[in-house]
Amino acid sequence: MALKVVKFGGSSLADAQQFKKVARIIQADPERRYVVPSAPGKRYDNDTKVTDLLYTAYEMRGTEAFETEFARIEKRYDKIIADLGITLDLSDEYKTIKEKIQSDASRDYVASRGEYLSGQVLAKLLDFPFLDAANLIFFDASGNLDEYRTYEALYEAAKHHTCAVIPGFYGANPDGTVRTFSRGGSDITGAIVARGFEAAIYENWTDVSGFLVTNPKIVENPKNIEYITFRELRELAYMGASVLHEDAVLPVKSANIPINIRNTNDPSHPGTIISNVPAPNRDCPITGIAGKRGFSIIHIEKDGMNNEIGFTRRALEILEQNNISFEFLPSGIDTMGIIVSNDKLGVRGEAIAKQIGAAVNADIAECISGLAVIAVVGRGMVRAKGVAARIFSAIARANISIRMIDQGSSELNIIVGVDEYDFRTAMNAIYEEFFPRN
Ligand code: ASP
Repeated sequence: MALKVVKFGGSSLADAQQFKKVARIIQADPERRYVVPSAPGKRYDNDTKVTDLLYTAYEMRGTEAFETEFARIEKRYDKIIADLGITLDLSDEYKTIKEKIQSDASRDYVASRGEYLSGQVLAKLLDFPFLDAANLIFFDASGNLDEYRTYEALYEAAKHHTCAVIPGFYGANPDGTVRTFSRGGSDITGAIVARGFEAAIYENWTDVSGFLVTNPKIVENPKNIEYITFRELRELAYMGASVLHEDAVLPVKSANIPINIRNTNDPSHPGTIISNVPAPNRDCPITGIAGKRGFSIIHIEKDGMNNEIGFTRRALEILEQNNISFEFLPSGIDTMGIIVSNDKLGVRGEAIAKQIGAAVNADIAECISGLAVIAVVGRGMVRAKGVAARIFSAIARANISIRMIDQGSSELNIIVGVDEYDFRTAMNAIYEEFFPRN
């Protein structure tokens, strides 16, 4: 029997109703045997995630407000347990956690209790064994995953348990104390567990049906992406498309285990499959279109630039000295554009352009802000003819001029820069070109 590792995010476990959906999903498929839960997330817009309640409780340790704050957390779990109608008493667990918070517990330990308690509830509901992640996921002294110890421990666990609930988000330091991954880190636990147990697939259940071809805030009702490769995902994620924690990719990618993003609230939807293999027989060369506003071009011009050895290095050294990284570097014979995100540049654009101008003795060096960047991503573009022409014609038909073009040698993406005020129209024009609505 194939084996699936299933991870459920905070919104999938926000209340008893959601827990019931999760149980139904797991019970519907006997291959779903190892379950990685997050802590209960938001039930409605202004609600607070349990993890955030825990961080606040930790900050209030030693004050009078602490008990009230911690009681909010107890109430969340007790309500879930009562509404599920299961017999589970977490009062001893609460007592231990509170005592530890008031004495020596670390912030990581406190935050990890959200997943820990959520795991206890889910294990009871499913009648699965509960395996503490502190005995399975190990960090080394530098805080990186200790792969050897972790995969050994998971290998052993698989021998003794045909199914289990393993809480996400945390593991143990070499001295046994708890350490968490960064926020959203249950995705990483799921990926490590999937690799350790040699799963056929890693199902990551959330509140959306996978990735959309583009941002629904910019393009109305875009299509869903059925298949995407890990590399394409990386390109799209860089431009802001996010459903999954970045660090969750590596463990499964290298073990060739596909990730299937699924929607707990729409379980019959196939979601998105992320894998190393390209989509089977798809005629559209494009997988996704991502874009962002908020970039500037540092534009440099100098006659004879292409013959000058070390020119680019001298220009980029200025960025390095100012601790600024750049995004793209399109260049012509005697011109070079350095595309930098405004987050990194702040108000220093003109000053840095001047410094670069002086360092390379440029004829012109200026900073032009107000650029939006659009990445059209698709493995299907590799050696396909006419994709770039279609992108540029679509933008031209929308009466928009392109400020910058960049195509990486991988041919996995074509990047275009347009004025920020043309961004929405350009995104829609490209979408309609490749995904026409009848
Ligand atoms: N509960 C943690 C957080 O809110 C980890 C996770 O949900 O993945 O970041």
